[in-house]
Amino acid sequence: MKVVGVDLGGTKILSRLVDPVTFRSVGREKMSTPTGGPKSVLDAIVGLVEQLDGAGEAEVVGVGVPGLVDTDGVVARCPNIAGWDSPVKVKTKLEAALGRPVVVSNDVNCGAVAEHRAGAGKGVDDLMALFVGTGVGGGLILGGRLVVGSRGMAGEIGHMTVIDDGRVCGCGERGHLEAYAGRAGMQRESRRLAAAGRSSKLTELTSGGPIKSRHIAQALAEGDEITHQLVDDSVKALAIGIGNVATVLDLRRVVLGGGMIDRLGQPYLDQIAGSLSFGGFGPTVCDLALAQRIDDAGVLGAALLAADRIEG
Ligand SMILES: [Zn+2]
Repeated sequence: MKVVGVDLGGTKILSRLVDPVTFRSVGREKMSTPTGGPKSVLDAIVGLVEQLDGAGEAEVVGVGVPGLVDTDGVVARCPNIAGWDSPVKVKTKLEAALGRPVVVSNDVNCGAVAEHRAGAGKGVDDLMALFVGTGVGGGLILGGRLVVGSRGMAGEIGHMTVIDDGRVCGCGERGHLEAYAGRAGMQRESRRLAAAGRSSKLTELTSGGPIKSRHIAQALAEGDEITHQLVDDSVKALAIGIGNVATVLDLRRVVLGGGMIDRLGQPYLDQIAGSLSFGGFGPTVCDLALAQRIDDAGVLGAALLAADRIEG
């Protein structure tokens, strides 16, 4: 069996023809994400799939999207895609255009499935994959299967409260993990401190532009006090969030990836592990592992989830 996997991102759309048993893929089509709204994006996906598999070799198409997906394949909104601010029936529309079944999944969940089957989560059936970049996203695998929850929101650890009455999050609530561990949250805090007269190396390195993971790594290496404080706060928040989820769900492993983790690497993971506390039943059984940064993980995960649906 062959499956087409598509990964819709804020800047580009990737697709490949994947063998869901060997994980090998052939062909690779790529284009910039259109900015003319959801219809232009769906038309582009149809064009890519036809370019890749015009003969219809793939029985099913899997699509990963950067937004919340309900059980009918309706995508409520994609904040990173221009004009996508109301629900779109992605599954129904793509199936009509492509004439074959389409499985639509959240992109973070696709990444979690790729890590579980082909990456740092191989052989572990109870795990969470956590991706830390601008924000914090998570995907949950329990009993070997992806869990999406009643509204598709399972694993959304970024908006879990970790500090009572803490920093304001991008979503407007207070004390969420993402407000401490996501780059956008760290940027807001460093600007707030700068406005209060406590400038950091980050202010200098970014000269008013967005903070990238490499800026944080550089400011840390240069011993900048505020950056150390921001990173320590992120470690504490991640440790609280991970510890609670791992305790409630009795996880065996938490896989961490994303821009911040890739850049800060094992020392950052060790720092988080050192601050973790699990529900106290003897020795720690949940470990932390770096994601393996599989090539086109989103494409692979989308394809594997689509293949699962066909196999039932
Ligand atoms: Zn939030």
